[in-house]
Amino acid sequence: MTKEQENIMAKPKIATTSLAGCFGCHMSILDIDDRILELVELVDFDKSPINDIKEFTGECLVGLVEGGCANEENVRVLQDFRKHCKILISVGDCAINGGLPAMRNTISLQECLDEAYLNGPSTQNTSGKIPNDPEIPLLLDKVYPCHEVVKVDYHLPGCPPPADTIWEALVALLTDKPLDLPYELIKYD
Ligand code: SF4
Repeated sequence: MTKEQENIMAKPKIATTSLAGCFGCHMSILDIDDRILELVELVDFDKSPINDIKEFTGECLVGLVEGGCANEENVRVLQDFRKHCKILISVGDCAINGGLPAMRNTISLQECLDEAYLNGPSTQNTSGKIPNDPEIPLLLDKVYPCHEVVKVDYHLPGCPPPADTIWEALVALLTDKPLDLPYELIKYD
């Protein structure tokens, strides 16, 4: 089979990642239950914690991003997703507006670090220093929603978005149908 034939027959790819999130949105992806079998008929999973593929193996049709950007590694991963994914989706409130991690945005970065590493009631740090190992990603001054770092094509709100919402959105995109979610899948009262 030629490379061209392989490309024609290849299924589109999907990638997922969790930045500053709690993996609850990934749990919601898995909550599509046995429809995951239908999903793998439609797509192949590329880089994702679901299959533990750590690096992109090629271009993806859809990238699902959970969590906002709290540190420099989050920014690098998000930019990598934007580069490799034709359609980028912010999944959940942390990706869309920073969510719970963004509660630190009203406090200065220095104060956050001091509380975490020096002054916290359960902290024992005899060195009196804030860790600065190059392996530890540098924290950003605040937590940024994904669309303030790269262009995002769609937002799926919720904490987490319901599995049915994620499923309907994915099927619409993968089958090239308009993304028109019914009211009951995007109401939160
Ligand atoms: Fe977790 Fe909610 Fe944030 Fe998703 S939106 S990562 S479920 S806190």
